[in-house]
Amino acid sequence: MKVLVLNSGSSSLKYQLFDCGDWRALASGLIARIGEPNGELRQTWLNANGATQTRQDTLPISSHEVGIDHIISGLRASGALADVAELVAIGHRVVHGGPNFSQPMIVDDAVAAEITSVIPLAPLHNPGHLAGIAVARQLFPSVPSVAVFDTAFHQTMPPTAYRYALPEFLYTEHRIRRYGFHGTSHHYVAKRAAIMLGKPLAQCNLITLHLGNGASACAIRHGRCVDTSMGLTPLEGLVMGTRCGDIDPAVAIYALKNLGLDAEGIDQLLNRQSGLLGICGVNDMREIDRLAAAGDERAELALGMTAHRLKKYLGAYSAELGTVDAIVFTGGIGENAVGIRQRACADLERLGIAIDTALNAARESNGERRIHSATSTVQVLVIPTNEELEIAQQAFATVTA
Ligand code: ADP
Repeated sequence: MKVLVLNSGSSSLKYQLFDCGDWRALASGLIARIGEPNGELRQTWLNANGATQTRQDTLPISSHEVGIDHIISGLRASGALADVAELVAIGHRVVHGGPNFSQPMIVDDAVAAEITSVIPLAPLHNPGHLAGIAVARQLFPSVPSVAVFDTAFHQTMPPTAYRYALPEFLYTEHRIRRYGFHGTSHHYVAKRAAIMLGKPLAQCNLITLHLGNGASACAIRHGRCVDTSMGLTPLEGLVMGTRCGDIDPAVAIYALKNLGLDAEGIDQLLNRQSGLLGICGVNDMREIDRLAAAGDERAELALGMTAHRLKKYLGAYSAELGTVDAIVFTGGIGENAVGIRQRACADLERLGIAIDTALNAARESNGERRIHSATSTVQVLVIPTNEELEIAQQAFATVTA
């Protein structure tokens, strides 16, 4: 039995195929620039000897349907999937599930309609997901399509955390509230952290930090999310690659009144031109590290602001949780940026948090590891995320429940 995980965007498809026995990734790949003349098809798979092989083609891919057809043909040709009948489920990443989905769902017409109804909350993501889901359901009617939502893990937040202090009708009539994102990743690393801590997730209090181009923090009490930094959209919270995170909303009003920007312009400003890019002109953390080490003051400010914001959330979530068993760093920055971890956790001994400089800097291990000092009452963990595996396992659990 196998599970195919699809992350379908408006013009791209990423996929990974898992064996449900040992949860090995058998193949992965992507299709880019759907609808353009120079579409791209990339596939990596394990051959019979367990070695990795890759194949790349440039060709026009007119639609999601043609793209998924290419994926299945490629999987068949490589031997990773002998027959579609081997698929027990197709797991679809869905960024926004709105207020009603706290679990993965087998997609029927009602579920598809609900995902459609929250398009106004995620206009850049949900239409692409729906395109992939529609094609999968149409091409493979006997294989259940399971939607796994980035928002689902955060549905356990209490209203004190998820409501905004805005007039009630915005919540009741427009569903404006904090939803949170990266839930699949926060959930995955929380489960791995529980294993490292040697106790059930339901007994763990954690602060998980998913730091990639998008970044979010999550406060987890007894294994359930009680707060998260992203809000109605992924714009709120931490300093990100190109998103500003927390700001005074009056900045948007100022931009509207004084900069001649319309809604689209403000959207671009806050989502695409801000964050690390806005502060220092670069949004790749490796490059920012290099620039700061060479004395670039703006890069240094970007690092300082990123760490300052993280520290605020560590403090706030420590206060919310009362006791914290572990802080977990994950995502491209969380897993690799030694300096950001060091700065974010510096001078937090009063909160029981102390990093071991040598363990934090040790680069020989890329796997799950502990980086706190012997005096730290809070464990500090680095756990590589694996959202695709989590989606595959949730999809499998949903169809076999
Ligand atoms: P996405 O949100 O797009 O999935 P990732 O989780 O891949 O992003 O994270 C991308 C970020 O991780 C980039 O800012 C990149 O510079 C950073 N990153 C990756 N490797 C390293 C490294 N060795 N040191 C510092 N930053 C790194």
